[in-house]
Amino acid sequence: MNIVIPIKQVPETSDVKMDKEKGTMIRDGVQTVINPLDLYALEAGIELKEKFGGKITVITMGPPSAVKALKEAVSMGCDDAILLSDKQFAGSDTWATSYTLAEAIKEIKDYDLVVAGERATDGDTGQVGPGIAAWLDLPLATYVSSIESVEDNSIVVERLVEEGYQKLKLPLPSLLTVVKEISNPRLPTLRGKKRARATEVPVYTAESMDLDSDSLGLNGSPTKVVKIDFPKVTRGGVKVAADGESGAGEAVDRLIDFLKEKELI
Ligand SMILES: Cc1cc2nc3c(=O)[nH]c(=O)nc-3n(C[C@H](O)[C@H](O)[C@H](O)COP(=O)(O)OP(=O)(O)OC[C@H]3O[C@@H](n4cnc5c(N)ncnc54)[C@H](O)[C@@H]3O)c2cc1C
Repeated sequence: MNIVIPIKQVPETSDVKMDKEKGTMIRDGVQTVINPLDLYALEAGIELKEKFGGKITVITMGPPSAVKALKEAVSMGCDDAILLSDKQFAGSDTWATSYTLAEAIKEIKDYDLVVAGERATDGDTGQVGPGIAAWLDLPLATYVSSIESVEDNSIVVERLVEEGYQKLKLPLPSLLTVVKEISNPRLPTLRGKKRARATEVPVYTAESMDLDSDSLGLNGSPTKVVKIDFPKVTRGGVKVAADGESGAGEAVDRLIDFLKEKELI
C-alpha cells in the first residue's frame, strides 16, 4: 500500500505573530515544528505500511527550511520526501495550497491512499485535505478516528461525528483526514535519524511541475484578507515568580493576600 502524507511546518504556537499590513503570518526567524496534528497522520500511515507493506511519501509545501519537517517524518518511518518550494507558491491560500499539493501528488502517480491531518495549528481551516481530494477527484473521509480494515481495493474507516461514530467503506485510492484518536505518534529512532540524514529531498518547483503561475501563490488565491484584528485583553494578570522553596512560600502568601483583598476567601 503506497501512501502519501502531506504535512505542514508550523510556528510553535506561542510564537505566532501577524503582519497587520499584509494580513499574513510572520514566519521569518520563528521556531517551527511539524504541525502537531500531522504526527497522528504520520503514525497512522506508518502503521498501515508495517501491516501491508508499500512505502510512504511525505510532502510539504513551504520554504527551503521545511526540509527539516520532512526529515523528521523520515526519521519516524517514512520512506521518501518531497519539498514543494518556489517563490511563486508564496502567499497561497487554502485553494492554491491544495491545488499545488494535488499537482505534486499527481506526479507521484502510484499511490493508494492520502492521509492528511485534521487541520493545521496556524491556518486552522481544515480545508487543505478536502481541497486536495477535490482537485484529485478522490473519495474523502474526514475526522477519521480509526482504520478498521483494508481490502484489495477498499478501506473501511470510522469517523468521529457529533452523534458518535460513522463507519464508511471507501474505494482506493482515497483521502483521509485524521483526528488524534487514530494513533499514538512514535518518536524518531536513532536509526531513523541516520536514514533521514542520508535521504535526498527533491524540490518541486512551478517550472518542474509545469504549473501555470496564475493558479499559484497570491495570484491563484481567491481569499483576500481585508483586515486583521487582535482580541483585546480585557483582564490584566499578575505574574508571581516562585523560585526555590522560599520563593514558593512567598508566592503562596501573595496569592492568599490577593484572594483576601478581593474578599474571595
Ligand atoms: C491571502 C493569504 C496569504 C497567505 N500566505 C501564506 C504564505 O505566504 N505562507 C503560508 O504558509 N501560508 C499562507 N497563508 C495561509 C495559508 O492559507 C494556509 O496556511 C495554508 O493554505 C494551509 O491552510 P491551513 O493552515 O488552514 O491548513 P489546514 O487545512 O488546517 O491543514 C489541514 C492539513 O492539510 C495539510 N497541509 C496544510 N498545509 C500544508 C502544506 N503547506 N504542505 C503540506 N500539507 C499541508 C496537512 O496535512 C494539514 O494537517 C495565506 C493565507 C491567505 C488567506
